[in-house]
Amino acid sequence: MTQLINVTVWGEYRHEKTHEEVARVYPKGMHEAIAEGLRESPDFHVNTATLDQPEHGLTKEVLAHTDVLTWWGHMAHHEVKDEIVQRVYERVMAGMGLIVLHSGHMSKIFSRLMGTGCMLKWREANEKERLWVVNPGHPIVRGIEEYIELPHEEMYGEHFDIPAPDDLVFVSWFEGGEVFRSGCCFYRGAGKVFYFRPGHETFPTYYNPTIRKVIANAVRWAAPNGNAEPIRGNVKPLEVIRS
Ligand code: ZN
Repeated sequence: MTQLINVTVWGEYRHEKTHEEVARVYPKGMHEAIAEGLRESPDFHVNTATLDQPEHGLTKEVLAHTDVLTWWGHMAHHEVKDEIVQRVYERVMAGMGLIVLHSGHMSKIFSRLMGTGCMLKWREANEKERLWVVNPGHPIVRGIEEYIELPHEEMYGEHFDIPAPDDLVFVSWFEGGEVFRSGCCFYRGAGKVFYFRPGHETFPTYYNPTIRKVIANAVRWAAPNGNAEPIRGNVKPLEVIRS
């Protein structure tokens, strides 16, 4: 029997309302395209939440029932309330998985979890991106070929101001010559965090079946594994201490 994984897809959902070009690519919002991809997996139960909902759609109840949260934000990172960031942070520490997508690298929750600036180089020139698998045994690349090619994406280049990832899964090459650590795993508390680079709002990246497969694999990797909660602080000995 497969256990159902509860996924909450969080989307800022602002570009789609203010930029016609983005609304054309994602008429129902980017979060709906990401959720649609995840709904192809029968072992996922998928809901969405957006910035303009009360508590950004991330109430205590919603987060308590979320195994894995995906995060796409860009123009309104500063509008995410610190109280909600703290709530997400505590859930990650307690074991919730977090998938941070594309421009989410500058979100409050990602920089809080990384402890670094998280800035990078960027350029919007509709160039080709090739994501090379650099960790072929990793569960996030199950069923993925040697590389993924995206004909048009925004460029992100090194240096990416993050701590050294615990697992590096993808390295991107861009037509303009830059490279970037585009698939990075981090362990934080009892939780797992995956940063995945592609997904600029003007490109149909989240309809790409291979990109969808990577995100689905990442959800399975990041889902809590039922391990016991770590015990910290002063404890009594398990054995009689005779000395
Ligand atoms: Zn972008």
